[in-house]
Amino acid sequence: MNDCIFCKIAKGEIPSKTIYEDEMFRVILDLGPATKGHALILPKEHFANLYELPDNYAEALMKVARKVGLLMKDKLSCDGLNLVQNNGEIAGQTVFHFHMHMIPRYEGDGQVIGWKPGEPTGEELEQIQSEILA
Ligand code: AMP
Ligand code: ZN
Repeated sequence: MNDCIFCKIAKGEIPSKTIYEDEMFRVILDLGPATKGHALILPKEHFANLYELPDNYAEALMKVARKVGLLMKDKLSCDGLNLVQNNGEIAGQTVFHFHMHMIPRYEGDGQVIGWKPGEPTGEELEQIQSEILA
């Protein structure tokens, strides 16, 4: 992907504020942070989204998230942490190179990351379960 900005950032061709790096991933500070320390985990190879992410990357990803999450807790003294990962425009994805958001949370930070809960009946949940398992 010649024109993918996250490929260039992940490979170090475009400078970024890197807070963690290994052979597979680079973790950078988001340029439009929701909170102090908002970071993005970028694989160094191009995968558009979660569906394309190979198992070895998927397995290594959570280890990186945990490592960086502990770093944030220790160094930024955040009170909580959201992991957010958008796939597809409807889900809010704007850059089509897989990335996982790490959003440190602070008491009173005023951010809202969530959804409006539905109220399905037991039958509706069963119907969805059978659709998925069919
Ligand atoms: P998403 O909406 O999940 O695709 O997230 C894209 C994120 O990338 C947003 O939070 C942007 O602020 C961030 N972003 C876009 N371009 C850059 C960049 N060059 N460096 C750092 N973060 C970026
Ligand atoms: Zn890319």
